Amino acid sequence: MNSKDIRKEFLHFFETKGHLIVDSAPIVLKDDPTLMFNNSGMAQFKEFFLGNGTPKNNRIADTQKCLRVSGKHNDLDDVGKDTYHHTMFEMLGNWSFGDYFKKEAIAWAWELLTEKYGISKDQIYVTVFEGDKGDGTTLDEEALELWKQHIAEDRILYGNKKDNFWEMGDIGPCGPCSEIHVDIRPEADRLAVDGKALVNMDHPQVIEIWNLVFMQYQRKADGSLESLPARHIDTGMGFERLAMVLQGKSSNYDTDVFQPTILKLEEISGVKYGAAEKTDIAIRVIVDHLRAVAFAIADGQLPSNTGAGYVIRRILRRAISYGYRFLDLNEPFIYKLYPILKAEMGDFFPELVKQETIVTGVIREEEASFLRTIEQGLNRLNQIIQQLGDSKVVPGDVVFELYDTFGFPADLSRIVAEDHGFTIDEAGFEAEMAKQKERSKKATALVTDDWVILDAAGNETSIAYDTKTADVKITRYRKVKNNKGEFFQLVFNQTPFYAESGGQVGDVGTISTLNETIEIVDTKKENNLVIHFVETLPENVNATFSAKVNTEKRNEITKNHTATHLMHEALREVLGTHVEQKGSYVGDDYLRFDFSHFAKMTEAEIALVEQKVNDKIAEALPLIEKRDCEISEALADGAMALFGEKYGDKVRVIRFGSSIELCGGTHVKNTADIRLFRILSESSTAAGIRRIEAITSNKAIESYKEADKNYNDVLAALKTKNDAVKAVQHLLDENAALKKQVESFVAQQASAEKATWKAAIKEINGINFLAIKTNLDVGAAKQNAIDLTKEIENAFIVVGTNDAVKPSITISIAKNLVDKKGLNAGNIVKEIAKHINGGGGGQAFLATAGGKDVNGLDAALKQAEDFVK
Ligand code: ATP
Ligand code: MG
Repeated sequence: MNSKDIRKEFLHFFETKGHLIVDSAPIVLKDDPTLMFNNSGMAQFKEFFLGNGTPKNNRIADTQKCLRVSGKHNDLDDVGKDTYHHTMFEMLGNWSFGDYFKKEAIAWAWELLTEKYGISKDQIYVTVFEGDKGDGTTLDEEALELWKQHIAEDRILYGNKKDNFWEMGDIGPCGPCSEIHVDIRPEADRLAVDGKALVNMDHPQVIEIWNLVFMQYQRKADGSLESLPARHIDTGMGFERLAMVLQGKSSNYDTDVFQPTILKLEEISGVKYGAAEKTDIAIRVIVDHLRAVAFAIADGQLPSNTGAGYVIRRILRRAISYGYRFLDLNEPFIYKLYPILKAEMGDFFPELVKQETIVTGVIREEEASFLRTIEQGLNRLNQIIQQLGDSKVVPGDVVFELYDTFGFPADLSRIVAEDHGFTIDEAGFEAEMAKQKERSKKATALVTDDWVILDAAGNETSIAYDTKTADVKITRYRKVKNNKGEFFQLVFNQTPFYAESGGQVGDVGTISTLNETIEIVDTKKENNLVIHFVETLPENVNATFSAKVNTEKRNEITKNHTATHLMHEALREVLGTHVEQKGSYVGDDYLRFDFSHFAKMTEAEIALVEQKVNDKIAEALPLIEKRDCEISEALADGAMALFGEKYGDKVRVIRFGSSIELCGGTHVKNTADIRLFRILSESSTAAGIRRIEAITSNKAIESYKEADKNYNDVLAALKTKNDAVKAVQHLLDENAALKKQVESFVAQQASAEKATWKAAIKEINGINFLAIKTNLDVGAAKQNAIDLTKEIENAFIVVGTNDAVKPSITISIAKNLVDKKGLNAGNIVKEIAKHINGGGGGQAFLATAGGKDVNGLDAALKQAEDFVK
């Protein structure tokens, strides 16, 4: 069965069991501070397990793009070395939200694997949770009894908390699980060694393919477990592993999921997969990492120097250095694999098709720049090794610095060192790495207490679109500690505060009673819950508070948000419809908009975009807002949706004239409220991504006033009333004429001096010698010396410029003297320049040295005479 059919069969099977099939959520997570990337199928449903939202259906199935490269689940070090862990993989999953439980989950998993996919029953093992004393849990007898109805009892194994108890994080919903393992060793091996002994032992052909999680507890901050009122099912099956089993292969890389890109890489590198262990690992790493990087970029996460972007950059660099080290690839090559990936997966994941230009452009540019880094790192390391001399060990901090500041991989340092007969101080390097890990752990450490629930029935709604003030009650609060200190998070029964999202910053403001006023310093969304940040807890948390959003700030934010929409549309009109939003910041201070476009914008284009936005402001277009619009209807109307954004079936549509966007942000009632729009800068942030920064309203008006004032200051300085350009042009012309005059004066002076010099020449041992001090600049002095040497036979001219800051010495010697007497101006100038604390050199007949100490000039000139005596 090919992999496309395997995926289709899974989704179809659960559809027939009453499941709603949904799309994969984007790989990059937006409103979950505990996770950077989706690392399991359940991540997008977390809010339902936490009770912060209701799913569209209580049975759902999908395939989810997952990335396990950071945080609790990090498989990066295994990827490529083994044949069944990937950075990016698809997780097939079925969910029950308070609906069916263990019985159906187990029966359907069994039916699908053995009947639909036809996996032989005597190759399957399953595990059940044995219980944990510390947690006060016991053997999962329910699961055990249910499995016994399907599978021989001796194929059921007991697993401990590490393998068979699944937790979302340190706190939150959790529960026992049952894993399904498949033994795909050849029959002879299976007969020789019982597969049972190999389950969960890291055997590459006795592997876990599916995990059925039975969510029935809540882990609290003090570590204790509480039973959940509603019990859920959360399952995850590795798609690539399933393909390996069903296609009778012994490695995920031998399936049709990876074979096409491997073939292409063989063609590019000239290295055959299977030729040697080292090159095989490199090939696996590269075709694996390609997927992680491509899917992340297609979902809008560009490589960068911080956060999720940095993780993506590191993965790409890891692939590049494997190619460089083992496949001898020192030109960008990964981007060339992309068309194959797109052809294979683009049908099911259309973002790969739509984002092709950006993805390949960004990857190619990153490759080129990292290959330059590698070259520089190599040079640096070679230099360091030269200097190290006899020690034969490259210190750990050097290796770490190369790695940390230049991104130069430690294993490359190791190889270069070995080539020179050196080793690297591994322990020292590890110690530096450990220190860094500790530093970053400290910087991000976050301790979250349990929620203190004040009103369990409070429905916690947002009224931010409709009002900026409201009477609110706290429904729950908790204490949070990070490296900046201790603060509190509050949730209200209803809130006028807008939570940071879609680039728009969170609201600030106050909540107050008659007795006290508390500042809300930020508002964020977490798993669909609006959380208000405060530094101190109110005295009486049960009071009714009057909540006030800081309207001054909110109004400016709102103007900037609407201006962003107008600019987005103007950019598409001026530059073309390839322009797509790639990121934005909408604050009260300014707006920033990143978008796809391959060339620097011209002055005229920038001016035109600015003009178009200001025209829309002048047209005074009213806001037309539609909440709860069917997404299909909105898209049919031409609304712009963003890649990497998760939309529900019902969306909010914001329209100003012909600008239509799906947007959750706040907007002005009429474009006239924006008053004025001004672009401050246009620049590049990555290959094919441009960035515009702009301001609106008072800020824009002030900035024009400021510019006007500067202009008036210039007019005043130029002593003119109106035409500054003409006045400046006049100044420039005058300046050029004066420059010419000065040059001619200098030339006259030089030629007058030359006459004086000529008269001062004296004959010593048949050489016409002159050593003289001058006030000419070094250029004129040198030219005079050259000219004199031409005019007079057997000349040896030494000129010192009497410059207090930068004295210089020039020596010019007739060519025949150089030959006959073996004189060398370069050597002589080096010697005598020591008096002026300087150095220099040149040829045998002409040399110059610059110095720092004019007081030594006389001594230098005097010493010159020694060379002709
Ligand atoms: P393993 O012990 O093999 O790392 P896991 O216990 O981490 O697996 P789960 O978190 O239970 O796996 O994920 C569910 C399923 O997803 C696994 O049964 C497996 O098929 C698949 N899976 C997990 N991690 C990876 C990975 N890095 N690459 C490919 N598939 C994976
Ligand atoms: Mg794992």
